Amino acid sequence: MYSRNVNAHAKGDIMDKKGIKLLRPQKLGDRLAWYFISIGLIFTLAVFITLIEYENRIHTEKIQSSSKEAVGAIKAQLERNLWNVDDEGVQTLLDGFSRSPAITGVQLTDENGFAKRSGNFEDTDADLEQVLYYEQQYLGTLQVQTSNTYLNHEFVDRIKLLGIAAAIFIGLFACFLQIIVRRLVTDHLVTISTATRDIERTKQNQYTPIKLNRSPINDELTDLVQALNQAQQQAIEFRQARESYENQLEYQASNDALTHLPNRRHIEKHLTNEMEKISKQTGANRLALFFIDLDGFKEVNDSLGHSVGDRVLQASAKRLKELIANNNNGYVARFGGDEFIATCSCNTKREAEDIAESIIHSFRENFAHNNAQLQLGCSLGTVFFPDDGVTTEELIRKADTAMYHAKNSGRNTFAFFEPSMLQDVMLKNTIKNKLQNALRDEKLEIYYQPLINLRDMSISGFEALLRWEDEDLGEVRPDLFIPIAEQTGLIFHLDRWVLRTASKQVKIWRDKFDRPFNLSVNFSPTNFHHREMMPWIHNDLAQESGLEWVELEVTERLVLNYDDNVIQGLEELLKLGISFSIDDFGTGYSSLGYIKKFSHILSKIKIDRLFVHEIINHSSDRALVQSIVTLAKSLNIEVLAEGVESRRQEDVLIQLGCDYAQGFIYEKPLGVDDIPEFLDTWLKTPRVVRSY
Ligand code: C2E
Ligand code: MG
Ligand code: MG
Repeated sequence: MYSRNVNAHAKGDIMDKKGIKLLRPQKLGDRLAWYFISIGLIFTLAVFITLIEYENRIHTEKIQSSSKEAVGAIKAQLERNLWNVDDEGVQTLLDGFSRSPAITGVQLTDENGFAKRSGNFEDTDADLEQVLYYEQQYLGTLQVQTSNTYLNHEFVDRIKLLGIAAAIFIGLFACFLQIIVRRLVTDHLVTISTATRDIERTKQNQYTPIKLNRSPINDELTDLVQALNQAQQQAIEFRQARESYENQLEYQASNDALTHLPNRRHIEKHLTNEMEKISKQTGANRLALFFIDLDGFKEVNDSLGHSVGDRVLQASAKRLKELIANNNNGYVARFGGDEFIATCSCNTKREAEDIAESIIHSFRENFAHNNAQLQLGCSLGTVFFPDDGVTTEELIRKADTAMYHAKNSGRNTFAFFEPSMLQDVMLKNTIKNKLQNALRDEKLEIYYQPLINLRDMSISGFEALLRWEDEDLGEVRPDLFIPIAEQTGLIFHLDRWVLRTASKQVKIWRDKFDRPFNLSVNFSPTNFHHREMMPWIHNDLAQESGLEWVELEVTERLVLNYDDNVIQGLEELLKLGISFSIDDFGTGYSSLGYIKKFSHILSKIKIDRLFVHEIINHSSDRALVQSIVTLAKSLNIEVLAEGVESRRQEDVLIQLGCDYAQGFIYEKPLGVDDIPEFLDTWLKTPRVVRSY
């Protein structure tokens, strides 16, 4: 803006001074010649004026002295003629005198005032006057008017000659000056300015110094060229440094420092480009996007530390890169954490399936770490452009949803995006928000399912089970909302509330029925990583007494992913008298080895109803229950069978040596108000005790 104004202003100036511009040329050589001519003319003029003045004065003086001499020559004769009253002689003398070269006219005025003239005497002042006497008597005055006509002609001719010579000299010298200036200065200045203005030259980032076409000489132009070359060199160096810095910044901004894969920012760019390319093409071209999440990475990171986690990520990135590079237009990037995104041109679902399977297969190979083998896996969500979405955000979101779906339906698998998955996500979000409000507004209920001691068929206690009925969603099953609560961290508050409320309630029944009922509370393994866990144990739980009859049910996940937090939490709770049981045993990554390791903490194993259900039909399930019971006994741990629904199941379980049972055959989980009646009936009814 500013420069435009300046230019306009400058242009205006030139236009305004157009007349001056014509007089004063723009080129340096021309201007110098112009200056030279102007100064030369002024100087010549001054010389001429001085000369004329000088010559004029000399000649005037000369004429006057020669007139004086001439007057002196005729003076005596004239006086005599006047004395003798020889008018004719006087006139002859005057005529002769007036014809002298420098005399224009003469006038003689006698003593009586009569005047005689000769030549062209004008009525102006005379140049010379001579008073005439004879014998001391005044005879008259002679007045002479001189002329310098003769002088002027001669002088003007000389001046003309001189003027022409000066003009020729000045003109020639100006031309010569202009050529010299052009040769010595302006031609080189043009070379310099053309080279400096050549933008391409600086753009090429290659140093091309300005060279003047002349023999080497150390003058101001050489200094100027050196300075400009140096400036160019510095500009190129600066430009190169800036470019490499910008490239570095660009690389850092678009690449992940750990895996050296493109990062989230780059994914957006890449996807936008690919989508644009496909949109321009004719035919049914599609782009498949795979959202990959490592299974079990968090466990590795938490248990073995971040440096091992980093190495696993690097190795995973390498595997993915090698694998995806084999595919058409393959691209892989790190989306964040343990999530990667891969894309490639795939026109059919079959092709995408093959790629997804090969990725999953590549993660089956263990990661080596300090002679140990780390087993991880990955879950994949797959979408297609343009079928599933037309923006990067939409595609990634849907692929992420599909990935979660795959993860939830058992890890190490993949899923193509389906619109119904979004509904699942929406439902999950609704549940998440509503559950929070339900806990705050105390809209949750606890049901109690009796636990039966198979030795004497007595009620050994109750398992507290959460129930939630929402106005809009209706009855929401714990199987649905508990995993969501675990993901959001709300589970800690839920479990705390259940423990507090249920323990108060069971204490009432213990007192009322005078029976040592135990309370089993499901306790999510994620609670051990909640930052409020230890303060809660020390400040709240430690105040309560009689926790010896409280048992926390934890799943195998806890023993599988134990760390310092878990050990510390378990020990603190044990100190308060709380006991632990393993819930749903057999469904997770069950390992009898783990049970051995945690035997000092565990007081009970709860065999999942899956095995109990098939215990009659499948000998393998029976054998498994048998081996669990045998191991538990050897470790002094009691065994409870979940989901007992028939007498035949009960019989087999007693035969196998199970200590406790829980199931619909005895009672479904009941509301608070139904328990007293149930207990009354149970206690009044005589039970057949079967021997082991
Ligand atoms: P779980 O701890 O294994 O609880 C036993 C589940 O089996 C209960 O389901 C119960 O109703 C059901 N059940 C008991 N006997 C039978 C039977 O004979 N046949 C069949 N088919 N099912 C039987 P529910 O109440 O739906 O709870 C499901 C799971 O939700 C629980 O499994 C537990 O893992 C979790 N859960 C429930 N309440 C809580 C809670 O307060 N905190 C936590 N962390 N988890 C909870
Ligand atoms: Mg349970
Ligand atoms: Mg269970």
